[in-house]
Amino acid sequence: MNVTIEEAVERLKASGIRMTAQRELILDYLYARLSHPSAEELYEAIYADYPRVVSITTIYKNMRVLRDLGLLKEFYVRQTGIARYDTNVLPHHHLYCVRCGRVTDYTGALPLPSIEVSPGFQAHSIFLEVTGTCKACAVLQRPERGIAI
Ligand SMILES: [Zn+2]
Ligand SMILES: [Zn+2]
Repeated sequence: MNVTIEEAVERLKASGIRMTAQRELILDYLYARLSHPSAEELYEAIYADYPRVVSITTIYKNMRVLRDLGLLKEFYVRQTGIARYDTNVLPHHHLYCVRCGRVTDYTGALPLPSIEVSPGFQAHSIFLEVTGTCKACAVLQRPERGIAI
């Protein structure tokens, strides 16, 4: 389930973290506008609408605070190795489009960390990433992206 912007604001306030205009902007783009962004993508989206208001350092700091409060999950797309942020904090898997780089939640039935994978072994996490081509890219016949370094 996705954390809402209202829940995030409540938890931050309850933890004694001050709401600033910058923080509000970050929360808005993170929880209400973007899906699974990297810090760079978040920065670029905010910059496009509000140039020079929020720095990349401020974004990284806020991601750490939100992650430590359990309001955000950090994960990596194996193909790029870039950290992305997820407002869906429940165990779930991802679909990664190799053409546009979009990450979406996979909601079907696949093993989740609650299952016993082997007798006596307690699984803490299962990482499964399905790579492929999203519908929009298939229709537009977009080429596959190079691996970002
Ligand atoms: Zn795509
Ligand atoms: Zn997700």
